[in-house]
Amino acid sequence: MAKTLPLLPLRGLTVFPFMTLYFDVGREKSIKALEEAMINDQMIFLVAQKDASTDSPGEGDIFNIGTISKVKQLLKLQGDTIRVLVEGISRAEVKNIIQREPFFIAEVVEGHMEEESFEPNEVEALKRRLVSVFEDYVKLSGKVSPDTALTVSEIENISQVSDIIANNIPLKVEQKQEILSEFHPLRRIERLLKIIYQETEILEIEKDINTKVRKQIDKVQKEYYLREQIKAIQNELGDRDGVSGEVEEYKARLEKAGLPEEAEKKVLKELDRLLKMPSGSAEGSVIRTYVDWIFDLPWNKSTQEDIDLAKAEEILEQDHYGLAKVKERIIEYLAVHKLKNNLRGPILCLVGPPGVGKTSIAKSIAKALNRNYVRISLGGVKDESEIRGHRRTYVGSMPGRIISALKQAGSNNPLILLDEIDKMSSDFRGDPASAMLEVLDAEQNFAFRDHYLELPFNLSNALFLTTANSLETIPRPLLDRMEVIPLSSYTEEDKANIAMKYLLPKQIELNGLTRKNLKIDEETIRDIINFYTREAGVRNLEREIGSVCRKVAKTIVSENKRVVTVTKSNLEKYLGIKKYRFDFANEKDQVGIATGLAWTPVGGDTLSIEVNLMNGNGKLELTGHLGDVMKESARAAMSYIRSECKDLKIDESFYEKKDIHIHVPEGAIPKDGPSAGITLATAMVSALSGIPVSRKVAMTGEITLRGRVLPIGGLKEKVLAAHRAGIETIILPVDNKKDIDEIPENVRASLKFICASDMKTVLKNALVKA
Ligand code: ADP
Repeated sequence: MAKTLPLLPLRGLTVFPFMTLYFDVGREKSIKALEEAMINDQMIFLVAQKDASTDSPGEGDIFNIGTISKVKQLLKLQGDTIRVLVEGISRAEVKNIIQREPFFIAEVVEGHMEEESFEPNEVEALKRRLVSVFEDYVKLSGKVSPDTALTVSEIENISQVSDIIANNIPLKVEQKQEILSEFHPLRRIERLLKIIYQETEILEIEKDINTKVRKQIDKVQKEYYLREQIKAIQNELGDRDGVSGEVEEYKARLEKAGLPEEAEKKVLKELDRLLKMPSGSAEGSVIRTYVDWIFDLPWNKSTQEDIDLAKAEEILEQDHYGLAKVKERIIEYLAVHKLKNNLRGPILCLVGPPGVGKTSIAKSIAKALNRNYVRISLGGVKDESEIRGHRRTYVGSMPGRIISALKQAGSNNPLILLDEIDKMSSDFRGDPASAMLEVLDAEQNFAFRDHYLELPFNLSNALFLTTANSLETIPRPLLDRMEVIPLSSYTEEDKANIAMKYLLPKQIELNGLTRKNLKIDEETIRDIINFYTREAGVRNLEREIGSVCRKVAKTIVSENKRVVTVTKSNLEKYLGIKKYRFDFANEKDQVGIATGLAWTPVGGDTLSIEVNLMNGNGKLELTGHLGDVMKESARAAMSYIRSECKDLKIDESFYEKKDIHIHVPEGAIPKDGPSAGITLATAMVSALSGIPVSRKVAMTGEITLRGRVLPIGGLKEKVLAAHRAGIETIILPVDNKKDIDEIPENVRASLKFICASDMKTVLKNALVKA
């Protein structure tokens, strides 16, 4: 049924049925409509403007559907404004505008819906759904009082529920209008649900963004706070600006250091990186270590070299007994170096057994040349990066040994001793020898690059010297660059002299004694040499003498004595029981036992070879850990004997009836090499013929199938060992005759040398004539 009512356009406001609300009215046309309503039954039609900013809306500017309302109260405010309290009654649609001026009067029709005609379960379901969604929304938004949700759930009228909810949610005018325009309550609930869902989703996204933003802000604030704290701590500690102060210090150092340009650039770059690091970071300390390394290297520090041959000779003489040839070679080398005025050319390599003074000679050379001395031990170096360093990407990486040695030397022209270059080996990590080649090559070493340093360092001013125990294991290309100076074992005579003149005074001083405190004569020293050491050099001898000195020092202090005399008879009191028994020649001449001579890296030694015969069928058995070459020597000796049976007066069929067992005792001596050939043959002939071998004879030499005797190496060491063992006659290959000259005079004088070219000479001299 149509009603005629004054119409009031609302700005930005929607009134729902069952709602009571205030709003202020200022527009004249609206006030007039209100007055009209008050004159009649206080009923008025409220409808929203499409655009809130329109001041005097026409018919087209307002929505079609609004709310028939009752004016409950009017309150005059300041000016012309009136505050109105209205209550929504029912929704209605404008059918006709009857009057436009001075205010709108409209003909409106209420919408009717019979609620009872709905399926009650469906209504209830929708209602419950709506209420629960609304409750979620309330919780999430925080803008609606939770009481509202409670109230809503208790209302029975379904139409009312949706209107109250729509009114309580902050919606846009269009959204509210959409709800208002829907007359059908169920469809209205559906629309409302859709809107609430949408709003809830927006709220959730908003909340999500909020937490994220908050977290980020929290983190930023925390870091800021911590940084401020660090600053405060650094200030407290007097380190005003932490890292930047440190970098300034480095830069000041850089100005004075006068590094090569490339190094300087590198330092600046690294310092720049350091500034960007958070203080206390691990990377920062890596950079510091690196920069420190660069500063610590002697880029332009050197000592003034001074090649004075007379002085060099004097120093070498002062520090070392004997070694005449070695000293001469070194002086020659220095003379060439002085003339050429550069270090190009072969590298000296001192080769000899341990303890013969290689290191000590190198030290004397450094002293003579006024160069700093550093030693790099290459024993056991397997990896190229030990020479050349590890790249800085590895944790804890370090420069290689060359660069470390230069830092240690403190000058860029030290004498660098590459000790035990023969003990380097290569494995899958690379070949240290090739890195070594570059170090030693004058064409390349002016710009040696270490992996860690990443900067070229000029090694061409350094003087390299190498030492080795034997030449065999030195890689060929390295050996080609070296000039070898051999040092051989010392005789007892040498050792006694070195001990009396050098080692004893040194140890006396080292142990806080004076010459007067300790009385010890040369005879006693010789006993130490013979019964407490067994070596080519004098290292253990020095240790034993040191040991005597220590014990003497103790006696002097604890027993309050002034002089202690050490003699042959009381030596055991100081050094304990004798460690070595002299390996004297056999007690008597024996069948099947011959004495050979062996060379080892620690000097020569005697070697007993035993042969036994047993009934059998010609088997040759070899025991005593013999190497392949030695086994072959035994076979060659056997063949020689078989072919010479008649001359040797041996039963020709021995190899059909007898087994021969050859044994070489003495575990410590390496048993490979051809030089035992004639000894093996002699022992076998003795066993087969039953003629004993003279116990005073020792021999060395390679044997051929025809019984020729071929030359061998290491004669001097072997002869010294034989002399020590009390041998009187030495049988040697005729081609080694020239080497006899190298044997010290006193030893030579007490021995008889027989130079053999064939086996017959050997046997004639070795076998005791039956
Ligand atoms: P190497 O390097 O050959 O193994 P070292 O140079 O270390 O031997 O020598 C060991 C010790 O023996 C050092 O104290 C050294 O001074 C001393 N020494 C070696 N040979 C002589 C010598 N001819 N004169 C004086 N002392 C020597």
